[in-house]
Amino acid sequence: MPTQNKIAALSYTALNTFVKCPLQFKLKFLDKALPFESSPALEYGNRVHRELELFFKQGRKLGDDLSTMHALCAALKAAGEAPGAKLLVEKAMAVDEAGNKCSYWSDDVWIRAKVDLCIMNEGGAHASVFDWKTGKRWVENEQLDLYAALMFAHFPKLKSVSTAFVWTKTGKMDSVRHVRSDKDRLLSWAMELTEEARIAQRDDAWEANPGFACKFCTASTDQCEEKVE
Ligand code: SF4
Repeated sequence: MPTQNKIAALSYTALNTFVKCPLQFKLKFLDKALPFESSPALEYGNRVHRELELFFKQGRKLGDDLSTMHALCAALKAAGEAPGAKLLVEKAMAVDEAGNKCSYWSDDVWIRAKVDLCIMNEGGAHASVFDWKTGKRWVENEQLDLYAALMFAHFPKLKSVSTAFVWTKTGKMDSVRHVRSDKDRLLSWAMELTEEARIAQRDDAWEANPGFACKFCTASTDQCEEKVE
């Protein structure tokens, strides 16, 4: 059935879903027709995120199961609480299609994200952003790029930002550094995909891409005849 729901308020996950399977994107993010199914991996991820959030917000001790993160988190907390620095936890950010800051719930919102941890330094001239990853190492630079673009939009004085995935099972990181002049380029991936999704909507042509993505898709065979079971 054609959907007229507006293609807006997109997250990295929504855009990445469109890349993997346009039909899943339509069913999940536009029609909101896919049932939510939890999994042990998802529950574990939520628990770790909550534990880390409480550590940085309230100083609550990390559990032994996060022993890989103890030293790193202590160092990050000290860095964020040093004179002249600022620690932001679960910072929500959004931009409109001009790449300008807007409210997370604005009607104009195009891309939005919450970053797990951000440390502002040098009076806001530099920032480091950290995204906790609880699964196997799999670097998707587009997500780090979007975080950087949102940071530049939200903090006008920001000259450079490092965005990093932190692999909580090992305490290791993958990071990328960006400067303000990168901002338009950082948003180009999202803009191209948004335009592709709008063409798919205009033509009501949502391609199914059966394969690995089906493993994590809750579409029924009525919703998607090409589902790989
Ligand atoms: S079941 Fe597979 S092909 Fe069908 S919508 Fe989901 S991911 Fe796409």
